[in-house]
Amino acid sequence: ERLQNSFQFLDVGRQDPSKKDIGQRRTSFVEIYEPYKEEEVKHQSHRCLGCGNPYCEWKCPVHNYIPNWLKLVSEGNLFEAAELSHQTNSLPEVCGRVCPQDRLCEGACTLNDGFGAVTIGSTEKYITDTALAMGWRPDMSKRVWTDKKVAVIGAGPAGIGCADVLVRAGVKPVVFDRYPEIGGLLTFGIPEFKLEKSVVQRRRKVLEEMGVEFRCNVNVGVDVSMDTLLEEYDAVFLGMGTYKYMKGGFPGEDLPGVYDALPFLVSNVNRNMGWEENSADFVDVKDKRVVVLGGGDTAMDCNRTSIRQGAKSVVCAYRRDQENMPGSRKEVQNAGEEGVQFFFNRQPIAIVGDGKVEGIKVVTTELGEPDENGRRRPEPIAGSEEVIPADVVLVAFGFQPNPPAWLSDAGVDTNSWGGVVAPEMQDCKFQTSNAKVFAGGDMVRGSDLVVTAVWEGRQAAEGILDYLKV
Ligand code: FAD
Ligand code: SF4
Repeated sequence: ERLQNSFQFLDVGRQDPSKKDIGQRRTSFVEIYEPYKEEEVKHQSHRCLGCGNPYCEWKCPVHNYIPNWLKLVSEGNLFEAAELSHQTNSLPEVCGRVCPQDRLCEGACTLNDGFGAVTIGSTEKYITDTALAMGWRPDMSKRVWTDKKVAVIGAGPAGIGCADVLVRAGVKPVVFDRYPEIGGLLTFGIPEFKLEKSVVQRRRKVLEEMGVEFRCNVNVGVDVSMDTLLEEYDAVFLGMGTYKYMKGGFPGEDLPGVYDALPFLVSNVNRNMGWEENSADFVDVKDKRVVVLGGGDTAMDCNRTSIRQGAKSVVCAYRRDQENMPGSRKEVQNAGEEGVQFFFNRQPIAIVGDGKVEGIKVVTTELGEPDENGRRRPEPIAGSEEVIPADVVLVAFGFQPNPPAWLSDAGVDTNSWGGVVAPEMQDCKFQTSNAKVFAGGDMVRGSDLVVTAVWEGRQAAEGILDYLKV
């Protein structure tokens, strides 16, 4: 039957799930995509050609068995699709929502060449959302407990990926996080219009049922020492992320009205979720002229949060052009639809104002020669300065690792930019200079993606299993 219909893509075009109406999107903090209906997902997944050498699988950082679960879901075998999808990904419903698919799986789909890529991300999300709602749970029937236990520091995607693989192998993971909820940046970073918090809370329950223990509100280095963890556990995994804000290094960054992106986003989540401890933490941009500096995912999230808070205007100033933006294209488009104005090729040189922000001085750029990462360097054009008026400036220039002092006391080496040294290619993958300590995610590779953090957490767990010889 599959062979007969293998030209489905000619009859059925790519159809993304529909989006909520724009009025609702501009005012509410709920996910903007409606879920697929069963018939829609069957049609869409059936467009897959079942390529012998699927590029999508190679390009997906966790190497999901994409054509296989697309086939299962197209045939209505939802629970089998969910089981298979969980063999490679610890957070499929999250990645389906927040991966920049256009640069990863869908960008590599053979049909992306004119026919429209298979909607891999939305299907991945559908499989797990629907299977979990119907009562499916990961099959743990063959798990045999060992007597080993591992301390996982950080309940973000890397820590969750690590705990998932360990618990399936019968090694008890105890996950410590300084925050009151699990998820790391999934909870305290990425806004609800991309990922509703109930999705992370549901995943917590699934993981707990599998045997993962979470200890929230425990700041390692303050509430419990690394020495204690090293003594009490057979190994330690570090998945603590990157939390040092990068600065622009231009005048005016300390003026009242200038905020770092993450505290702005987190204060918004805390207010929405009723988790706010001090109302003074909330950054209110209602009726304000907001300028967001940066062009990545964090900048897009600041833009769209400002729109939803009721800002008078939202301008995103980015020093390269649209083609060279680092984040997901889908989210740039969503931001534009919601009313964000983009000023491309503008490099900020000063934040101006008398006692408070009044504007941001930018210079127009043109793209020159590629830099060491292959991205064309923006070069300022002399005499092109202009001031964009602003009441609030949100700075989203990215993050750097900020390893705590206790790491070096524990014999864990970091590199010149503060990343923990934990190479993938060695006998025990992602082992640090202390043989008992492993690491992964943003704190090893620098700020990146949910899916790469999940991959490194999972691979580090394989390294831990090799080290523990279980
Ligand atoms: P984190 O998610 O940062 O988790 C680290 C955890 O460690 C945190 O919970 C922290 O509280 C805990 N921790 C740190 N120190 C301690 C300590 N001493 N004791 C106890 N706990 C500790 N990626 C995408 O793929 N798609 C997106 O759309 C996207 N949007 C983003 C939007 C924003 C605003 C931001 C900031 C990032 C975004 N990212 C996105 C990137 C993605 O969220 C990160 O790459 C990913 O979360 C990294 O996972 P991690 O587990 O390494 O770290
Ligand atoms: Fe695509 Fe991300 Fe899912 Fe991989 S994990 S298939 S890259 S959406």
